[in-house]
Amino acid sequence: MKDQLIKGMLFQNTVNVCAISGADMLSCARDTHELSRVCTAALGRTIMQVAMMSLGLKNEKDRLSCVLKGGGEAGNIVCTARPGGYVKGYLDNPKTEIALYADKLDVAMAVGWFGEMTVIRDLSMKEPYIGKTKIVSGEIAEDFANYYMQSEQQPTLIYLGERIDTETGEVLSAGGLMIAPLPNCPTDIIEKLEALAPATSSLPDLLKEKELSEILPNFFAGCDFVQTDCITPHYACDCSKERLCEVLSTLGVKELRSMADEDHGAHMHCHFCNKEYDFSEQELRDIICVLEDSH
Ligand SMILES: [Zn+2]
Repeated sequence: MKDQLIKGMLFQNTVNVCAISGADMLSCARDTHELSRVCTAALGRTIMQVAMMSLGLKNEKDRLSCVLKGGGEAGNIVCTARPGGYVKGYLDNPKTEIALYADKLDVAMAVGWFGEMTVIRDLSMKEPYIGKTKIVSGEIAEDFANYYMQSEQQPTLIYLGERIDTETGEVLSAGGLMIAPLPNCPTDIIEKLEALAPATSSLPDLLKEKELSEILPNFFAGCDFVQTDCITPHYACDCSKERLCEVLSTLGVKELRSMADEDHGAHMHCHFCNKEYDFSEQELRDIICVLEDSH
């Protein structure tokens, strides 16, 4: 079953809906970072959420990033999305494992609930929009729902969940939902949406059997569901030697010259995909030349 990222509307276009199935994305993140079971869930939920939020990105250079600093054992979580449903991410301590709590992965304990989360929307041509809110539970879905309420005054029902084999750590299924009534949405419809909430937790089980696009019309039966977009999301890093060259350039001539003279090169590591990049002394001197020519 391939991953899907779907946008739609409910109740005569008075409610926005976004849904994702992300088992492949989570498996890819798990392989990239050798994630423990609980870290697969913690990073995986954030990846799916950021993928859903990225549907608002329009221009090629637009980026949406989320940083969760919850103070838990897994450390900080960082995720960045670009248009087209491409997401990359990492967390500080990917091998952190925590005992199951009531037979469930204890994501809250791994993430923590003592800090802040930051959402950065970097839209081309404008100053980045930065929103900050408290982390309220560490379960991720509640934290993003709180973010939408506090920072964007947008009541939003969010579900994020996964099924992970507790023996092997293999990702069996993963899914997410975002349901957001528009400002003109009548009260009786909001009550209907609240009644839907308990059913959202069945999504990962449904995804073991069927594709997301097959599930949603049934799931939203009687809600006038209309699908407006469906793409395949990916866990993918966009780093390259050219990109890291730009990062090196930001260090400035003085710093680069000392790296060339003393270290005779530079070694860089991409946190998102664990690729290693080596810059020779000559390559550093070439960057210095370009910087000096531009002054
Ligand atoms: Zn990378």
